[in-house]
Amino acid sequence: MKLDDKITRMKGIGPKKAEALGKLNIATLKDLMLFFPRDYEDRRNKTSISELTEGRPAVVTGKVALVVADRYKYGRKQLLRLLISDDTGTIEVVFFNAKYLLKRFQKGHEYVFYGKPVRSFGKMQMVHPDFGDAGEMNAGILPVYPLTKGITQKEMRSWQLSIRTLYADAEDFLKAEIREKNRLCSLSYALENVHFPQEKQKLLEAKYRLVFDELLVLQAGLLLARQDMGEVSAGIAFSKDAKTDAYINSLPYPLTGAQARCVREIEKDLESGRMMNRLVQGDVGSGKTAVAEIAMYKAAESGFQSVLMAPTEILARQHFDGLCKSFAAHGIAVGFLSGSMKAAQKRETLEKLKTGEIEILAGTHAIIQPEVEFAKLGLVITDEQHRFGVGQRMKLKEKGNNPNILVMTATPIPRTLAVILYGDLDVSVIDELPPGRQPIVTKSLTPKSRDKCYGFVQKQLAEGRQAYVVTPLIEDSDVLDAKSAERTAEELSGRFPAHKVALLHGAMAQAEKDRIMAQFYEGEIDILVATVVIEVGINVPNATVIVIENAERFGLAQLHQLRGRVGRGAHQSFCFLILEGESEIAKKRGEIMEASSDGFYIAEEDLKLRGPGEIFGMRQHGIPDLNIADLSKHLQIFHHAKETAKDILQDDPSLASVENQELKRRIAKLFGEDFSLNL
Ligand code: ADP
Ligand code: MG
Repeated sequence: MKLDDKITRMKGIGPKKAEALGKLNIATLKDLMLFFPRDYEDRRNKTSISELTEGRPAVVTGKVALVVADRYKYGRKQLLRLLISDDTGTIEVVFFNAKYLLKRFQKGHEYVFYGKPVRSFGKMQMVHPDFGDAGEMNAGILPVYPLTKGITQKEMRSWQLSIRTLYADAEDFLKAEIREKNRLCSLSYALENVHFPQEKQKLLEAKYRLVFDELLVLQAGLLLARQDMGEVSAGIAFSKDAKTDAYINSLPYPLTGAQARCVREIEKDLESGRMMNRLVQGDVGSGKTAVAEIAMYKAAESGFQSVLMAPTEILARQHFDGLCKSFAAHGIAVGFLSGSMKAAQKRETLEKLKTGEIEILAGTHAIIQPEVEFAKLGLVITDEQHRFGVGQRMKLKEKGNNPNILVMTATPIPRTLAVILYGDLDVSVIDELPPGRQPIVTKSLTPKSRDKCYGFVQKQLAEGRQAYVVTPLIEDSDVLDAKSAERTAEELSGRFPAHKVALLHGAMAQAEKDRIMAQFYEGEIDILVATVVIEVGINVPNATVIVIENAERFGLAQLHQLRGRVGRGAHQSFCFLILEGESEIAKKRGEIMEASSDGFYIAEEDLKLRGPGEIFGMRQHGIPDLNIADLSKHLQIFHHAKETAKDILQDDPSLASVENQELKRRIAKLFGEDFSLNL
């Protein structure tokens, strides 16, 4: 037998079994070899019956004291009950529909059982345990494989046993040098010990190696996929002499520890000569903009231009205002560009960009238009990245000669996912808020409290503050029983006759949205009734209340993002979640929102509530299902694997060399057909 043989070459595997194995993605002996246990049964230590703990699987040896074949009271199930005893006590063993076992057990004989004890009517019980004659049952650490219909655990174990001698033939696709550097055992050792572990320590070594392999294959695949887009490349090195201290010292506050760390990471990238491609994740108000400004300062000191692109006109304008204030004292020229500018003004800006007179440019998508040319673009920053497609980012990049890229986002993506989704991006996390922030008071309410809630809004308005009200729908729907922005705006206009209520939603033209937002920003509007379009980035420090209607219809990450619209000024802010219905998950979300304001914590909780199916159902993002690695547990290994993948691809960018053929095959296998890698 050879590893490349079809599994039907094996004794006991005919077309039927082969088909079932196909469902597990096993076609060859090699596939079988790389099909790993999902768990293990430790049958090395026997437990005496009196020591059994409910729920903890154990091996017991005992004599059959009584055999009873029964009919199940309320059904047609056959029931076989054994009373098993050792010196310390007795336990009941139960089999359903297993009359054939009646002959198997003899009163007074000794047998071994392995199973999970449960308590039933006060008695310890094992249901359908594995069993054998005393001394006969396999007593090591046994693998437990994932199964599919038509294949039993016993079969899988015996097949693995029959190809065990082939493990030694498995080609180790990692060079000794890489293995040593990452302290990895050999592949054959790993295979032997993952399928047939003799002791825990060896199993751990084996798993480490195999998890590393899978994550390396994943990472190499992601890098390869992105290579087409030219994202792994040489870049522009900024000068080591371009110090940022002068700028940092001119800030009216000291950087937080997280900001300082993030700045160091960015500076290292910028000086490296490799193109920077970094994602800065930080909760709303964590001070990402300050970090971006420091990077732009370094660019200017190194003689390069920077752009800061925002998804909306108003956000871009806010950035422009901020940048002007920050850089005026340093004599650095800041410009602005958007689609709605007057032609003459635009022409002037374009000219100044071309000559390099403007050193820092803030703007909207208008920046990626063909007529925009730079003298020496060195740094591209996008704010609220998830609003931009990859294509737009690429276009922006083409404005320079591989400029450094910094992406800022406040969307709380769990760290684990960020690394995967943005595989090629390095990630910096600002996980600390500047000191002295007042947490936003958050309350989840039932509809009964709606009047009281708006009564509270009234008081805030009377004090000169402003409010957001968010609804899931734009207009009333026949199908969905949920608040609409249009209807709510009408109702609130009636309720607050002395105040100006306005409407904002995604179906409105961008210019109209910008106009409304600007009015709200200027304080001409008191209550802004909106759909989730306000989710992103807008900064109105005077707004102190946000009411979210039908909050049960929003995910945690979204609720958190919406809440971030308030709490941006000196005043205490409030968030009210009005929950309709009885949904448990919605209640849980409300509790989490009340308890925490940490976006990363909330995002992780969101993942937990959704269950792992969602995390790993991410094929649409090009992330394949993993076999042995678990990204929520193995992030550390992932980082090592990532470095190794980068090294390998640097030496052999298209995996053309003979020694990388196995890696290439594994990538193709992991990603499958629906992921075109151009291999
Ligand atoms: P983000 O872009 O992450 O939402 P910003 O950079 O806009 O956050 O910062 C939010 C506010 O906090 C701004 O008013 C900024 O001046 C202030 N800020 C930023 N960093 C600090 C700091 N280290 N200490 C105190 N205030 C800070
Ligand atoms: Mg911001």
